[in-house]
Amino acid sequence: MHNKPILAVDMDDVITDTFQQSLDWYARDFGKKYNKQDLQGNYLADVIPSEHREKIQQYFFTKGFFRELKPIPGAIETLSMLQDSFEVFVVTAAQQFPQCLTEKNEWLDEYMPFIDWRYRVFCGHKYFLNAKYLIDDHAYNFEKYIGHPILFTAPHNTKEDRYTRADNWDDVVNILKIKQPI
Ligand SMILES: [Mg+2]
Repeated sequence: MHNKPILAVDMDDVITDTFQQSLDWYARDFGKKYNKQDLQGNYLADVIPSEHREKIQQYFFTKGFFRELKPIPGAIETLSMLQDSFEVFVVTAAQQFPQCLTEKNEWLDEYMPFIDWRYRVFCGHKYFLNAKYLIDDHAYNFEKYIGHPILFTAPHNTKEDRYTRADNWDDVVNILKIKQPI
């Protein structure tokens, strides 16, 4: 039996910089470079011409997209450190984009081998989790979740104000320190 509190951590836009990769691929395909500051309160799909939307929705089904993601600064080192105080689970929606299951597993093997297969949860809904903390960029994952939510800032959630917010991984550590001695 475990006796450390369970910390569940989303992958896209919390551990991996999925938003930035969409911006990079959009710039490659359409020659217009947006940055995250331009998109506060929006998804990329909200600001581009409607005829480009289908193409960017296909990115998530494109081989390599999830495998090539860059880590969010601080994520890997911080989660490695937090394993001393928490049972850290990576909990990521995967069934929606079938090829991402393999790619996310490979990504974790490369960047976070300290999260072994028993601590990788590829799922849809997250409210079934019995985790004390859940770090996620999507507020909808918190609506029926019964633990302590921590909203990780991404351009699309900057207008959300219902949940404790972390702008970066230093903020996560500070929030957890207040709630839990680590
Ligand atoms: Mg996410």
